[in-house]
Amino acid sequence: MPGQPNRSRSPRGLLRRVVSVRRAVQATVGVLLYLAVVQWDIGIGWVILAGSATGLLLGKFFCRWMCPMGAVMELILGAGDPNGRGRSLYNYFKVGCPIAWAGGFLNRVSLFRVKVGDPARCTGCGACDKACYVAEFAPGHSLFRKGQVNPSLNYSCSRCLQCVQSCPTGALTLGLPSGTGLSAPGPGRLSSSSTRGTE
Ligand code: SF4
Ligand code: SF4
Repeated sequence: MPGQPNRSRSPRGLLRRVVSVRRAVQATVGVLLYLAVVQWDIGIGWVILAGSATGLLLGKFFCRWMCPMGAVMELILGAGDPNGRGRSLYNYFKVGCPIAWAGGFLNRVSLFRVKVGDPARCTGCGACDKACYVAEFAPGHSLFRKGQVNPSLNYSCSRCLQCVQSCPTGALTLGLPSGTGLSAPGPGRLSSSSTRGTE
């Protein structure tokens, strides 16, 4: 429509396109990691160190974007389960490995987390919470409701970004905790850090 921003070319549109190919990214990185350890003799300690270091930037990102075991588990648990219930339970309750522990604990302090980047776009439809297993299983967690805990701060959030993908208006983004996400709201709008889904 004339005068409307082209969302598919916006930073949020780009983020949603990246999320749509998450499994391909995870499978590719997983194979490369496997080759690195098995064929190219890179010590598993380096993989654990590098995987944990990604947590400083993105929290528990490794599990859903890089881990070969995570990719296999997603395939197995997704088979014959169109609603993804088993996979959600697994992702929420799993104990994981040292990289998952580091990433999970770093979710609270990681540089980037999911947030309502543009509160003016949020219609309160609730699609984000429906897509998020943390919002489903953890009481008092919501990506958009005022006064509730942001699920992306929870240990179990593995940065799947299904919440971002499911938001019909592009209100959700991946951003700095007190900043404005990947694209800035204009002057006079509510600060995303003081409203929904930020703590
Ligand atoms: S990335 Fe979003 S949908 Fe996935 S677990 Fe975290 S808050 Fe929930
Ligand atoms: S899906 Fe988007 S518009 Fe709907 S409640 Fe969540 S952030 Fe708001």
